Amino acid sequence: MSRLGPNDPAQSAIPDVATAPRFLGEGLIGSWERNVARPHSGELLIAVRANAICGTDRQQYLNGAGVVPGHEAAGIVVATGENTSTASGTPGVVFLMDFCGSCRPCAAGATNQCLAKRADMGFTHDGGYGPYELVHETNFFPVPPDLDLAEATLLLDVMGTTGHAIERARLVAKDIQAIAVSGAGPLGLGLVVMARLLLGSSVPVVVTDVQPARLELVSRLGGRPVDLRTSTLAQGVRTNGIDEIDVAIDTAGKKASRQALINLVAKRGVLVCVGHGESLELEVSSDLISPERAILGSEYFRFDELPRNLELLRAHRSEFAPIITDRFGIANLPEAVSLFMSGTTGKVVVEQ
Ligand SMILES: [Zn+2]
Ligand SMILES: [Zn+2]
Repeated sequence: MSRLGPNDPAQSAIPDVATAPRFLGEGLIGSWERNVARPHSGELLIAVRANAICGTDRQQYLNGAGVVPGHEAAGIVVATGENTSTASGTPGVVFLMDFCGSCRPCAAGATNQCLAKRADMGFTHDGGYGPYELVHETNFFPVPPDLDLAEATLLLDVMGTTGHAIERARLVAKDIQAIAVSGAGPLGLGLVVMARLLLGSSVPVVVTDVQPARLELVSRLGGRPVDLRTSTLAQGVRTNGIDEIDVAIDTAGKKASRQALINLVAKRGVLVCVGHGESLELEVSSDLISPERAILGSEYFRFDELPRNLELLRAHRSEFAPIITDRFGIANLPEAVSLFMSGTTGKVVVEQ
């Protein structure tokens, strides 16, 4: 049951079916009609306004998807189910994992490790490239109405995933003096800004990539770019006058990049793996035991990290702004995804 009655003008303006993008595979995007569900108890219906394109979308882009993809959505509540307290008209962002709130990880706040997730939005249920998204109130995070909703998507992967990776590193490394990051995609770019805000501007952040446009963005954001076409990571670190790397963060998901990072991590340092894919080879004695290094995984982020990140975004909006390099209307989704997948941009956001 929805709170709004069927004769309420706001509710009747919501169609029963709506046209949404359909990821057909092999880089083709068509469209299909999707039912627009009315929210049940504890649920909210969101009219999506913006969704940021992510490298993780590549799988669905190449292989096709049985749902509407998109897991970095911001929108406005247009209908509310019973047992909710969010008002229609409230803007906010959608947390990818529809966590249960009561399992052991959730009870400890580790909502990114929920044992009984109801959905992964955009993967198991329709996500943010469609006009509407049905969520639970618990995985919707309201934002102030003056925040541009394309910028609000930065709260998700760009700030959330990177902030969580830094917090994971901090569990081990207490005196962080320098950071190295592989990959200057949206996560690498987000790390440059988040590391400065969370650890201070005196901590240099070295970021490797092979794309000139992304390396240029790294410098613009205050990071130290290393062009792997002309230099190794180790050379780049030395060129920047850095003696030791305390925290290495792999966003690239490549074995070669992880090996380069672990070889460079100082004694008592930590490698945090954020990018999925490929492997890592270790000599346990020399890589881990003797130098007392740690290797950690970091998956998405905890819902309870969002309030701090919202404060950071509001206070440092202009520092994050360059990370969004392109905006497209939803009608140009194929062009937008193709541009993003070329690996030459920062974050590309699709608006509707
Ligand atoms: Zn993502
Ligand atoms: Zn749970």
